[in-house]
Amino acid sequence: MTPDDQARPIRLPLAADPPRGDRVGLAEVLALAAPSRPRAAYLHVPFCRHKCHYCDFYSFVDTQDRQEAFVARLERELEAAVSLLGDGLGPIETVFVGGGTPTMLRPPLLARALAAIRRHLPLAAEGHLEWTVEANPETVDREIADTLAAAGVNRASLGAQSFTPRLLAALERDHRIESVSAALERLREAGVSNLNLDLIFAVPGSSLEDWAHDLEAALELEPTHLSAYGLTYEPNTPLAVKAARGEVETVEQDLEAAMYEHACTRLHVAGFDRYEISNWSRPGMACRHNLHYWRNESWLAFGPSASGHLGGLRFKIVPRLGEWLDDPRACPLSEWERLDESTTFGERLMLGLRLVEGVDGVWLEQGLERFDAGGERGRAIERALDDGRLESVGGRVRLSSRGTLLADGLLSELV
Ligand code: SF4
Repeated sequence: MTPDDQARPIRLPLAADPPRGDRVGLAEVLALAAPSRPRAAYLHVPFCRHKCHYCDFYSFVDTQDRQEAFVARLERELEAAVSLLGDGLGPIETVFVGGGTPTMLRPPLLARALAAIRRHLPLAAEGHLEWTVEANPETVDREIADTLAAAGVNRASLGAQSFTPRLLAALERDHRIESVSAALERLREAGVSNLNLDLIFAVPGSSLEDWAHDLEAALELEPTHLSAYGLTYEPNTPLAVKAARGEVETVEQDLEAAMYEHACTRLHVAGFDRYEISNWSRPGMACRHNLHYWRNESWLAFGPSASGHLGGLRFKIVPRLGEWLDDPRACPLSEWERLDESTTFGERLMLGLRLVEGVDGVWLEQGLERFDAGGERGRAIERALDDGRLESVGGRVRLSSRGTLLADGLLSELV
């Protein structure tokens, strides 16, 4: 649904969509995975109130008529995956229900889906489990908030995006600004107090003052976590088409960089730690689920279009609701790929450098010795250390402040 969590960090390359006749279920490719014990699970709910024109996630306007079938299938998927993985599973320490807009599910069906997660997945004990559900602020009424809390959900992620009406309109968001604070209040009253807000900067027509105002408005609501991403023009989205036709007043790169720097400074002053390029939290409140992605660990995936990773096997569930509902196999895949060691090293490096903690220097050196025959990655890292985009601190290598602004180019060189 929003840039927090499942969203941006895991856009990793997968094998091309195979011919139709080659469709397989997870069971048929599982042997390609190295032994691993996934400690995280992602579930994708594709329904939305409205399709925002910048969004390229698999989601569509909900007509309510397939919610029940969706939940019934999800129940079967969870049961099948658990019997498939058996002893090699859990405890699951983080669950992330994203989309789409999971809170579009009618409360009894949302309760059923959440109950199935609890029934089938070997969840970690209370106090060790982080369970997040994404929500559109407009959908969080008292019943939904109570349903989440009663199921054991302890973290919510709200797509606020902006607190400026003109910019919400530019994003084609359909929620009202006041619904964000109302949703947070209902969630807190229900007992869900670990709360993320997603924000987007560099929205067409926005100024640095607009962004400063949005950040202040977000801080006033006292979230525990903030995700802030510059707007991306994802290929083939209506927004990208409008931009290509010159119909969108895009924000200059320098202004976007100034907006990002303002976020870093202001959130630091407000007591937030930046732990990833675009993610800040109160001390100790980093999103543990996201950290599984950025540390390149294994995670389960359920629901149409969800991507998962099991011991070097990357896979994507078929991204079409009708086909997902009708396929006789459990967890039908549209894409899968067994990554070789060199690719795995490159991905771990690219993801690890997104984190403020960076990567271990000895691991990096050994990896370059083994997997950098052409020397290209090593040279890219040396150049970045020389020109100050990377820095070596306490035995770890990480992006410098300047490198964080220029991360995209460097990280793509390393994959
Ligand atoms: S709410 Fe908008 S951005 Fe979020 S998944 Fe739905 S269409 Fe995409």
